[in-house]
Amino acid sequence: MDLATLWYLTIGTLLVAAAMTLWERQEQLQRSRELGLWASAYGVFALGCVLAMNRQLLPGVAGSALTNVVMVTGYILVLQGISALDGGRPRPLPVAAFLAALAAAWFAAGTKFENMFWSHVGALPIAVICALAALALARSRAARGLRSRPIAIAVFACHSLFYGARALAVPVVAAIFGDGVLPVVAKATMYEAVLFTVAMPMALIALVREEDRARLLASARTDFLTGLNNRQGFFELGPHRLTRDRRGAPHSLLAFDLDLFKAINDRYGHQAGDRILALFAQVAKAAAGPGAMGARLGGEEFAFLLPGLGAQDARRVGEEIARAFAEAAARADGLAIPATVSVGVAEAGAGESDLAALLAAADRALYKAKLLGRNRIEIAQPERTFESAPAG
Ligand code: GH3
Ligand code: MG
Ligand code: MG
Repeated sequence: MDLATLWYLTIGTLLVAAAMTLWERQEQLQRSRELGLWASAYGVFALGCVLAMNRQLLPGVAGSALTNVVMVTGYILVLQGISALDGGRPRPLPVAAFLAALAAAWFAAGTKFENMFWSHVGALPIAVICALAALALARSRAARGLRSRPIAIAVFACHSLFYGARALAVPVVAAIFGDGVLPVVAKATMYEAVLFTVAMPMALIALVREEDRARLLASARTDFLTGLNNRQGFFELGPHRLTRDRRGAPHSLLAFDLDLFKAINDRYGHQAGDRILALFAQVAKAAAGPGAMGARLGGEEFAFLLPGLGAQDARRVGEEIARAFAEAAARADGLAIPATVSVGVAEAGAGESDLAALLAAADRALYKAKLLGRNRIEIAQPERTFESAPAG
């Protein structure tokens, strides 16, 4: 395959990648800046390829210098898109200063050593920028946990190594074996460019799509009013919590039901009721601590899973939540509603991970708390006692 064919192939791939990225951008409103930067980068790369193919048409070193500066601009746009994932803002001034310095280097030294600049020196900024891109992805909080992140890191790291080798190792090899290696390197460069222009846009689009999917999944598991898990989130994430945290220790579950909530709605209005629900979630989350997993199971019913806590410790947490909630509702701005909550506690042994059974036990204790007059906390009796009670 001749070089020109590879150039045309690369240009075509880049234009398709730019179009696909712009198409994706219409869907991914949260990442429109990043996708916009990447699409423009692919456009700039395509322009760089056209310039590279025709660089002999410009006088002296101008064609090569312009091509290199345009290509480096494309890489900088890619890097800025990656850093934008974590809120990084484009910094046009340092970028412009860097590009000006690169152009100045070309016209200062590149005129004497055009081949050396074209084949080696010009590759160095590309190696550095791609290393920075791989590093930014490795550190990215936004991309944390995404399956396509290691792929994207590998794509940039490989490209960086390849260009690093072109900049630093190839001159040594050429000095030993003669300039005969340079055409081989040129072919390898084009071949690698084709692979890179396919792999990079695919990896970056995959990153954004996967992040979007994770966001959707999280919102499907989240209660809109309170920000806690909803019932689906509770049952999907809870069992994992039980097996992950504090192996060998018991864990407890607190079931909450706000007292006479219908009356609160009737008296103060549904909106005030909503504010009370959100207030309860906020207070309970703060009092239960970061290790707890809270959920709004429905209506005015909540559950908090307390990994590593036995029933007595959990009871103290439940009492603290109930106290803090009543106090907060009584003095909340524009509310001042006498709201209380009833609580049921159930404990499960270290090896037990049946969340539904644990919730059923806590619900039985909660029912008892309601029967005994509300605004109180009850601990579930172990199953055996419960079942033998009616017989006795
Ligand atoms: P109890 O002490 O026995 O639990 O009495 P209660 O009135 O709290 O129980 P009940 O189950 O009869 O009423 C629950 C009420 O919660 C009824 C419903 O209108 C209200 N509710 C459920 N979801 C929401 C919500 O999202 N917002 C508001 N404001 N109210 C809700
Ligand atoms: Mg209820
Ligand atoms: Mg209730």
